[in-house]
Amino acid sequence: MSATLIKGKPIADRIRAQVAEDVAAIGHIGLVTVLVGDDPASDVYIRLKHKAAVAAGIDATDLRLPEETSEAELLAKVEELDADPLVDAILVQLPLPKQIDEAKILRALAPAKDVDGFHPVNAGQLYLGEPTLVPATPRGVMAMLAEHDVELTGARAVVIGRSAIVGKPMAHLLLQQNATVTICHSRTKDLARHTLEADVLIAAVGVPGMVTPDMVKPGGVVIDVGINRTDDGIVGDVDPEAAEVAGFLTPVPGGVGPMTIACLLENAVRCSRYRRGELAYPS
Ligand code: NDP
Repeated sequence: MSATLIKGKPIADRIRAQVAEDVAAIGHIGLVTVLVGDDPASDVYIRLKHKAAVAAGIDATDLRLPEETSEAELLAKVEELDADPLVDAILVQLPLPKQIDEAKILRALAPAKDVDGFHPVNAGQLYLGEPTLVPATPRGVMAMLAEHDVELTGARAVVIGRSAIVGKPMAHLLLQQNATVTICHSRTKDLARHTLEADVLIAAVGVPGMVTPDMVKPGGVVIDVGINRTDDGIVGDVDPEAAEVAGFLTPVPGGVGPMTIACLLENAVRCSRYRRGELAYPS
């Protein structure tokens, strides 16, 4: 068997075209990204997000702060952006330098401008199943599953990884679609016992090739969220040989990555709808 590859780019291109239409109709959407320090991977992510935002017509500001920025300075900047009526959406690139408490910064964001969906209020809305700003990567995965008509009601879904950015929101979105969800993590015993039962397997771990073909249910849908920089280039969390067993597989690169950026832009449109009162922010 050879899996059908679920490529992200064609789906992401459609989403980005819709965002460009929305931006044109709205007139102005202001997005400010904040990068503290000069982490090379973060720099690449910020550049990609900017390029995509600008291409969609979003008024994107790439704010760079020095590595030694204090927590108080960053908090003051976030509060200034929260209050700025021309700023619809704010993204603080993680990780932050060690002198800054990330949780404190995320809590300082105005929830309706939290384009990443990381604020505890947005996380709580997702937990309750309310429409809200949802982290872009799991939203992108859901769009890929929908595009390929993957039946989630009653499906066994296994998510490897329990981060607040990918694993947990992913599990909630699958649950909302009536999947029976198992979350696995570094302390899970006999991981393969769980993954082998997965009609839908999501790997969001950060360990190159850790999902091997013998861990995949024949014909199952495998979504590889991992982005791992190795001497052989960027690889996912799933061994590409898993394509011999899976029914569907997302490639790395070119799978979930493009979806994350497209869904982030969609979130910026949502932020703008909140700011203009077109959508009521849940309260
Ligand atoms: P984190 O490091 O925050 O979380 C990794 C999770 O994997 C943790 O829950 C950890 O468990 C679990 N884990 C680690 N080792 C194992 C193991 N051997 N067996 C089972 N579980 C394990 O990473 P993120 O969630 O931020 O990212 C995960 C991956 O996704 C990374 O490769 C990242 O680069 C990529 N990513 C890709 C994006 C995209 O757009 N495609 C966007 C965001 C991330 P525990 O909680 O017990 O420590």
